[in-house]
Amino acid sequence: MKLFLSTDFEGTSGIVAWEQIIEGQPEYAQGRLLLTREVNAVISGAQEAGASEFVVNDAHHFMRNLHPQELAGEAILISGRHKPLYMMEGLDSSFAGLCFVSYHGSIGAERAVLGHTYSPAAILEVRLNGQIVGEVGINALVAAHYGVPIVLVSGDDVTAQEAESVAPAAEKIVVKHSLGRFAAAHLHPDKACELLRAGAQRAVERLARGDERLVPPSFELPVRLEVTFLVADMAEMACSVRGVERRAARTVCLSGENLLDIYRQFVAVVMLARALADR
Ligand SMILES: [Zn+2]
Repeated sequence: MKLFLSTDFEGTSGIVAWEQIIEGQPEYAQGRLLLTREVNAVISGAQEAGASEFVVNDAHHFMRNLHPQELAGEAILISGRHKPLYMMEGLDSSFAGLCFVSYHGSIGAERAVLGHTYSPAAILEVRLNGQIVGEVGINALVAAHYGVPIVLVSGDDVTAQEAESVAPAAEKIVVKHSLGRFAAAHLHPDKACELLRAGAQRAVERLARGDERLVPPSFELPVRLEVTFLVADMAEMACSVRGVERRAARTVCLSGENLLDIYRQFVAVVMLARALADR
């Protein structure tokens, strides 16, 4: 059985600050260690329940947070920037299930530690068919396209709550409780890893016995993805992407029946808007 892991970083127990999760910062080494342990806990738990192949997509920032030799399960690591399918690069219909590890809440959540939606420098809100979504919801478009069920989501309590709408049956592993954008109450990392291991084991056992609730996410078609930026210039630039329509000064809409196309358009729009934010 093949499992796909898309790994972010903000949702790891012990993480509350950008300094812990950005390359070159003094606390980064410590952050990496905590993340790697959580990723390996998921792989090990899945292995115990019979999963045998793992592909890990390092999906945070420069996407070089995990070191290949440190990964359990002889996992294939997908790393590096500008991957065509970004946080979901490497997924296809050959996978039995997918796990979102160390994910975080959306930018608009009331209390989500390090909450953002793809780019805190560009995006104020994303709505999918009218509902506010974070990265789990957006990335679920790719899971739906390939027909792969989301079997595990880990992060803070807000991440778990936000995942309910697209992955109600997935194992939700809460490793910390958000107290604000830069504060959280963490489970001890050993305890967090224990829960992740047990959760992954349960998820794979459920897949193996054909649990009917573990189905791929599904969306009402045509899907509408509305993106609101911090400033109007970003929306203007986003309209350079074919099929993107302006809805308001700062809001654009991407819509269609092909979920992969919509996700790719979204990635292009994020890249363009982010380029403006850098100047
Ligand atoms: Zn993220």
